[in-house]
Amino acid sequence: MGNIFLYDLLNFFIPQNCICCNSRIINPGNPLCRKCADELITVSPEIVTEHKMEYFKGSDQDIAIFSLYLFHMNNPVQILLHSIKYNSKFLIAYRLGKMLAERFEKDLSNYNLNIILPVPLYHVKKAERGFNQSYYFAKGIADYMRLKTSQSYMKRTRNTGTQTHLNKNERVQNVKAAFAMVKGRSVKDKNIMIVDDVITTGSTIKECISTLKADGANQIVIGSIALA
Ligand SMILES: [Zn+2]
Repeated sequence: MGNIFLYDLLNFFIPQNCICCNSRIINPGNPLCRKCADELITVSPEIVTEHKMEYFKGSDQDIAIFSLYLFHMNNPVQILLHSIKYNSKFLIAYRLGKMLAERFEKDLSNYNLNIILPVPLYHVKKAERGFNQSYYFAKGIADYMRLKTSQSYMKRTRNTGTQTHLNKNERVQNVKAAFAMVKGRSVKDKNIMIVDDVITTGSTIKECISTLKADGANQIVIGSIALA
């Protein structure tokens, strides 16, 4: 009974038609048809290095980034991210989390991770949307790795708005001191993977990392569905 319910639930959240081109999907459970999935650009180690050289300077450059797809306008990845965020297809984020953990299983095992934490949404925004898409992504990773995830360790202290039209420096200013640990929660000496749906300049995730480090976190790595 439970399984039937779960199957219905999956069908509801993960469509039978490709979310990108609307053609019928032969292997239900995949959000994209084969043709659209083939258009996704897998993030290579070279892409990560290039991204870090541009946006992660100095000591930040040592941080490990695990990401699935290169973000590109008009690529199915854009529609994938949009559906997860705005069309309530958050179970797709869960599946992508499992995919990420499976793809990087060997590398991730080197970090002795204790917990997977999503970048928090401002509580008003979360209430409006009904969910934090990054939490489902984190949950997929955590379930695959048999680890814990939680939305109650860190909080966003104010609404930072959309950063789409801000440049790199404006983004840094925009998220400055925007995160805090939840009272009574501690990440002292913990190895953490902090995850977001998409990493662009990294200003948001770096601010989260500062908050976690200030609380005594040990090693931190980054995970994302896409790298822009
Ligand atoms: Zn398609």
